[in-house]
Amino acid sequence: MKSLEKFTLGTGDRFGRQGRAQLAAFVRAREEGIDACPVWNKSNREHTLIGTEPASVRAEADDAVQALGWDRPYYVDADHIGLATVDRFLAPSDFFTLDVADRIGRPAAPDDVAAFVKRWETYLRPGGVEIPGLAAPLVLDAARMREAAGQFLAAMQEAGKIYRHIRDRKREPFAVEVSVDETDRPQSPADLFLILLMLAQEGVPAQTLAPKFTGRFNKGVDYAGDLAAFEREFDADLAILAFAAKELGFPPTLKLSVHSGSDKFSLYPVIGRLVRRHGAGLHLKTAGTTWLEEAIGLAEAGGSGLAVAREIYGKALPLFDDLVGPYRAVVDIDPARLPSAAALAAWTGEQLAAALRHDPACPAYNPHLRQFFHVSFKVAAKLGPRYLDALGEHAAVVARNVTGNLLDRHLRPLLGA
Ligand SMILES: [Zn+2]
Repeated sequence: MKSLEKFTLGTGDRFGRQGRAQLAAFVRAREEGIDACPVWNKSNREHTLIGTEPASVRAEADDAVQALGWDRPYYVDADHIGLATVDRFLAPSDFFTLDVADRIGRPAAPDDVAAFVKRWETYLRPGGVEIPGLAAPLVLDAARMREAAGQFLAAMQEAGKIYRHIRDRKREPFAVEVSVDETDRPQSPADLFLILLMLAQEGVPAQTLAPKFTGRFNKGVDYAGDLAAFEREFDADLAILAFAAKELGFPPTLKLSVHSGSDKFSLYPVIGRLVRRHGAGLHLKTAGTTWLEEAIGLAEAGGSGLAVAREIYGKALPLFDDLVGPYRAVVDIDPARLPSAAALAAWTGEQLAAALRHDPACPAYNPHLRQFFHVSFKVAAKLGPRYLDALGEHAAVVARNVTGNLLDRHLRPLLGA
């Protein structure tokens, strides 16, 4: 088992060209006293859509580490994998995100439910379980345990199967994350405790847990929801995890993982404050924000870069329903706020870059266009070598945007003094 660093930042890179520019942000952060560890994550879904193999992420990470002389830990995350998809990730990955969200709500065997309640009856205390940091004891009864088992036990049993599948095949140590974020209903702090009981029983040595939090975590834009409610929930979640790590034998580094974590500017001060107060760690997962910086960099570069950015938009717009459809739950795009392809073709590179760049204070910023570009990466993938060539040709300006985004808008606001 690998012992994860306290602060890890997932840096997805859809097209695999920005590893060095991403790592440069961590190098600079470290010079400023921000100790964050990079995790290159790419999901099976992304590999399939773009037509890449998991080994390419390992190659990218190793190349960046060597080129920049990074002498600190780093990881390659097989993101959102399951039993059916994990095998091609086994060799190149040393971090596995076991996605069991699609099993939530599936019934577990009645005997297993009964065994679960029996196994943890020590927590069925009349006055509740005292958990340091929680305002009130956590009160559990057998009915609540059975209800939770009905929701989550089959999913956590699946996590156990995936974990053992990896463990039995992989010699090198690896880190395990369990993700239940891709579901409709947020999990409460009490749900997290019950989920952790199930994972403990399954023997899954989870180091990070990615719940679905309250509020909307839209792709590439800020958090939308009740900040005070989020703060209460996150605070209680941290108390639960610290307690579970001690009581249930999880790694002491057990921490929360925030998926779709890029660009959540209003949350970073809250999260930063809470993890400091609890002395807790954090994993923040980002992916599409780097692809958006590529689009911004190409626009800013002008010439052939801008032409490719315009072409992507021109091809994406007629495919609006196909591109947005799979992401309906995680984007809020008003088509009326998108420029026509002809209008956008008349924009300068600076105009397009300013519309896409996530600077809420800039009047030109257009969150609808930004989110639409976010889901349009498949069109860039279809351009194939023409897109990749443009990235190569304008590598410096793209890299400046990629590095600046991670450093200025993520690492510093989250972990800086
Ligand atoms: Zn996720």
